[in-house]
Amino acid sequence: MSTTTAAPSPTPTPAFLSTARRGDVARWSQTIIPTAREAPADAKLPSHVLLIRGGYIRQVTAGVYTYLPLAWRVLQKVSQIVREEMNAAGASELLMPALAPMEHLKKTGRAEAYGDLLFRLTDRHDRESYLGPTHEEVITDLLMGMNISYKQLPLNLYQIQTKFRDEFRPRAGLLRGREFVMKDAYSFHTSVEGPGGLDETYDKMYRAYVNVFTRCGLDFTAVEAESGPIGGSASHEFMVNCENGEDTILVCPATGYAANVEKCETGPRPWSFDAAPTGELKTHHTPGMPGIEGVAQHLGTTPAGMLKTIVLEPAVGASVKTGDGGVRWVLAVVRGDHEVNEGKVRDAAGFPVKLADEKAARAAGFAIGYVSPRAAAAIPDTLLLIDPDATGGRAAWATGSDKPDHHDTNFSWTRDSGLALPAADAPAGRVRVADIRNALPGDPSPRDPSARLEARRGIEVGHIFKLGTKYSEAMGLHIMDAQQQRNPAIMGCYGIGVSRTMQACVEMSFDDDGIVWPAPVAPFHALIVMLDPDVDEHKRIAADLADQLSAAGADVLIDDRPERPGVKFKDADLIGIPVRITIGAKALANGNVELKHRRDKSKGEQVPLADAAPRALDLLRS
Ligand code: ATP
Ligand code: MG
Repeated sequence: MSTTTAAPSPTPTPAFLSTARRGDVARWSQTIIPTAREAPADAKLPSHVLLIRGGYIRQVTAGVYTYLPLAWRVLQKVSQIVREEMNAAGASELLMPALAPMEHLKKTGRAEAYGDLLFRLTDRHDRESYLGPTHEEVITDLLMGMNISYKQLPLNLYQIQTKFRDEFRPRAGLLRGREFVMKDAYSFHTSVEGPGGLDETYDKMYRAYVNVFTRCGLDFTAVEAESGPIGGSASHEFMVNCENGEDTILVCPATGYAANVEKCETGPRPWSFDAAPTGELKTHHTPGMPGIEGVAQHLGTTPAGMLKTIVLEPAVGASVKTGDGGVRWVLAVVRGDHEVNEGKVRDAAGFPVKLADEKAARAAGFAIGYVSPRAAAAIPDTLLLIDPDATGGRAAWATGSDKPDHHDTNFSWTRDSGLALPAADAPAGRVRVADIRNALPGDPSPRDPSARLEARRGIEVGHIFKLGTKYSEAMGLHIMDAQQQRNPAIMGCYGIGVSRTMQACVEMSFDDDGIVWPAPVAPFHALIVMLDPDVDEHKRIAADLADQLSAAGADVLIDDRPERPGVKFKDADLIGIPVRITIGAKALANGNVELKHRRDKSKGEQVPLADAAPRALDLLRS
């Protein structure tokens, strides 16, 4: 399953209206809800603007926010939904520290891999530490100290905790913070398949994630993401379907297949090397030209008329043995306007690859920046992978000249490459045609080649991942099996951006006047607006209504501020509490109060005081 917005089984009374607990009753005059007319100029996204204007959050420094009382309540509600679904999936909650020793990350190579994203610090004894961007190392180290046996597995442990990442460009409020709240879970297994295996827990977590985001009222898509060490469908991202999202996903409208750009496959794309050469091969002097656009323009073509040849090498940095000898270099050729996809190169080559070390590649004879496919003929132990769109469908390509500062035009594969070109998809051989580029909208769908992939935008709110043994091997978490053999634990990890999810709920549900909270995550369910907060009878009525609602499990905020009605109604719309009851002298003279749902544009309805609480609860359930 790759796409879903399936609902969990319906319950007659929504979980957020549970009579097992009395709802909270709070008074506006006793809390702090600093609503504002304007948001700072750097707030562009509606959800960011509204969380600031609604008095939910205040920035402390770049990417770091205080959650004011309303926001903290929402965060608690999202957390509680996450908690319930994690517990139901068999996971246990714990809490690890944010501060951890750098030795952990040195063991797994992430001290380097994280680069500047990591908040590093040194304590008074000169010990290096870091603030956790995620906790694979801490939890692996924890279990190492416990001498875990196979009988105790599988185990699934999670926490809801503050994470730190020194993002280059913190943006859009809580969507990309440098300090943010994440739910992170880690599972441990002795097998991938079968009862108790990684796959089983992964599927449970997948379903738990569907439940969480459905309960938060979000419209989302689960997309296939990078496959990692285990391969296959080993990773899914949960994307809120939102035009303002940072991420691009590709979907097949016919089958529902959805994947992120890095992972997305394409259906078969036709290719051949048949086109006859046109014009003579010509070499041009192109010194110091900035980027492919500039070069293309100089050569009188476009990036789509150029071949881009990237030099990679086996990830081990040495030759790998293949069926027909060793491979030291991998050349990936795509059209100039396309992007090489390392994961796809890995799959086509049959082994992991990385960008070639520039010094070593130059020493081997590659004119980095000016390489053409001919280098595969000239330099021994080179595997050439060609994307279908970069084959001979076009007769005359522009390409590097294999010498610095020069490019060729009118390059013909058949005439000029000096290579034995394949006639059909051949998985072996030194020259192969394969899908090695990032997918694009308009590409044939991998599930239904008659359909075309479409691009959508999304906000990544969750990510589940089959880790395999990367961390257990690096750190030495070995599990004793029934035969007294010790093997590295097989792990999965599962993240939810809790604070990001909170803001995504706003981005998906607002109007011109403010936020329109989905009831399950709203800070309060009902807002009682007192137009005359000083009148004793009104105070009694407000308290009584609040009491009835609270007894039914609803959280109630009473606006008892000495403000003008206009101010109160504006603020009520801005903070977005689902149901509003207004108590005023005029309606009360007829024994009525006014009842209104936040999503209804029309004026509220007059209802008899005695009906107000039950009708408000009905509205909440609707
Ligand atoms: P992104 O691609 O958005 O930077 P990521 O893939 O690096 O995120 P993960 O390591 O998968 O993030 O973290 C798990 C979840 O934590 C993400 O799915 C996202 O919802 C949330 N998250 C990650 N980085 C941030 C951030 N800077 N601010 C808020 N939430 C974040
Ligand atoms: Mg992610």
